[in-house]
Amino acid sequence: TKDFLTDLVNRRRFFERLEADMAESRIKGFGLSVVMFDLDFFKRINDTFGHDSGDEVLKHTALRVRELLRSSDCAARFGGEEFIILLKETRIDAALALAEAVRARIAGAPYDAVGAVSASFGVAEWDGQEDSRSLINRADKALYVAKQSGRNRVVRADDAA
Ligand code: GH3
Ligand code: MG
Ligand code: MG
Repeated sequence: TKDFLTDLVNRRRFFERLEADMAESRIKGFGLSVVMFDLDFFKRINDTFGHDSGDEVLKHTALRVRELLRSSDCAARFGGEEFIILLKETRIDAALALAEAVRARIAGAPYDAVGAVSASFGVAEWDGQEDSRSLINRADKALYVAKQSGRNRVVRADDAA
C-alpha cells in the first residue's frame, strides 16, 4: 500500500481511502476535495542531473507536502512524478489554498543538487454525486490546463456536469 521511494501511499490505497471518505461524506454531508499535481519538466531534471537526483527530488517533494498536511489528509504517489492529495472535510476554497501553499513550498526554495523545481496543480471538490473516476478526471483536466497555461500554477476544476 506504500510507495517505496516516497513512503506516500500508492495509487491503489489512495482509491480505497477516497471511496471510504466519499461514503463517510455522503452520510455526514461534509465536503471532500482532491489536489492533483505533476512536477514540471521532470524529464529535463533526470536528463540533466541523472535518475538518482530525480529520485531525490521525488523524495523531497513528498517531505515538503507532508509538512503541510493534517493527519486526516492523505497524500499519494499517483504515477511517476504525479501526486494526489485527498483532503477530508475540505471545500474547494480551502483546497485551493492548500494547493497554493504546496506550490509555493515546492517552488519557493531550491532542491539540493538540482536547484529550482516547480509543479502544476489541478483542484476539484467532490459534488456529492459523481464517482471517484469523474472527480479524478476533473482534477486531471484542471492540471492539464495549468500545464498549458504556463506551469507552476494552481487551476480550479470546472464543476461536474
Ligand atoms: P511536464 O512539465 O509536461 O510534466 O513535463 P515532464 O518532463 O515532467 O513530463 P514527462 O511526462 O515528459 O516526463 C516525466 C518523466 O518522469 C519521465 C520519466 O522518466 C520520469 N520518471 C517517472 N518516474 C520516475 C522515477 O521514479 N524516478 C525518476 N528519477 N524519474 C521518473
Ligand atoms: Mg511532469
Ligand atoms: Mg507526468
